[in-house]
Amino acid sequence: MSTPRLYIPNPLAIGDTFTLPSSQTHHLLHVLRVKPGTSLIFFNGDGCEYEAEFKIFQKQEATVTLLKSRESKTVESRLSIHLGQAMSASDRMDFSVQKAVELGVSTITPIRSSFCQVKLPKERQEKKIAHWQAIAIHAAEQCGRVRVPSIHPPHSFMEWVALPHKGEKLIAHHKGTYPLPKPQHTPESCVIVIGPEGGFSEFEIALSKTNGFQVISLGPRILRTETATVVSLTLLQTLWGDIQ
Ligand code: SAH
Repeated sequence: MSTPRLYIPNPLAIGDTFTLPSSQTHHLLHVLRVKPGTSLIFFNGDGCEYEAEFKIFQKQEATVTLLKSRESKTVESRLSIHLGQAMSASDRMDFSVQKAVELGVSTITPIRSSFCQVKLPKERQEKKIAHWQAIAIHAAEQCGRVRVPSIHPPHSFMEWVALPHKGEKLIAHHKGTYPLPKPQHTPESCVIVIGPEGGFSEFEIALSKTNGFQVISLGPRILRTETATVVSLTLLQTLWGDIQ
């Protein structure tokens, strides 16, 4: 079994000893069946991994001591990608968030667009963001990342396309053009927005163009929204990022 990796949102330093939250202890003991004395890896988003020893007290309480740290330079892409993901049915949205993290995005904003069938009332918003953030954390733990992408609060499409985004701005639409733009210099950042099951309206496409977005195609077939997320991120990492 590979060394279990755990995200902890606290400052970490060599020599620190701390008690693990009960949910992480339960997962380590009863799901991964980790034995006391095993090495674990912690990360907190500062770009390093911390190796730790795992000890058990009174059967259910676990402490860890941080023994060494190393900077992890190769796992985070040189390309910072901000994904605008139109909100789709819950299992598809979960899939898109998980795969986007595995494919190295930096930020995800859930988008409300005209043809979104999913309405997220204000009172459920906080819980849903926490749910997507937890998916992002688990994906980062599993795929070896040292930074956890942040999930921004949902934005309306109109509001989001008008924000002062950095780098290349792309919108995926099956009537768009291919190949992707070839900027003079390889960009360090880009934003891409993927539509919901019902696609984008003509008005949204026009509005995105007015705001400097380039309409790109992902090939001749109409992909499901979650497939389009995976395909577009793979393309961007291949062209400008870290898939070689
Ligand atoms: N019935 C919809 C299809 C939506 S597919 C329509 O006619 O528009 C969901 C989203 O995936 C789209 O809004 C787009 O962002 C992306 N997508 C799917 N296939 C694509 C393709 N071939 N090229 C570019 N984007 C695509």
